[in-house]
Amino acid sequence: MSKFCPNCGKEVNENAVICVNCGVALNNQNIVDETNKTNSLAVAGFVTSIVSLIINLWGLVGLISLILSVIGLVQISNKQEKGKGLAIAGTIIGFISIIYAAVVIINYINLYV
Ligand SMILES: [Zn+2]
Repeated sequence: MSKFCPNCGKEVNENAVICVNCGVALNNQNIVDETNKTNSLAVAGFVTSIVSLIINLWGLVGLISLILSVIGLVQISNKQEKGKGLAIAGTIIGFISIIYAAVVIINYINLYV
């Protein structure tokens, strides 16, 4: 078993802490940090879902947060990014906002139509 240096690409020993070719420190934490970025759509979706609890706009804000969160969730599973919890929260809160808007609209119709 062997791994490759992220700096020069040279094959190095699996347990090596420093690359024998270029001298760069082979810290696994650096590699994890680069690949595990927080997904920006998941953050945007979560923030929008919080806004939808304050400004509902007939479920429109909730719908935007739901779409952003679902796309974010797909990107997270494809690219193995962080922010899965945010994306799930954004999806649930966005969905609640749409249901709330639907209930308000149905009640309005029942009262006045
Ligand atoms: Zn190297």
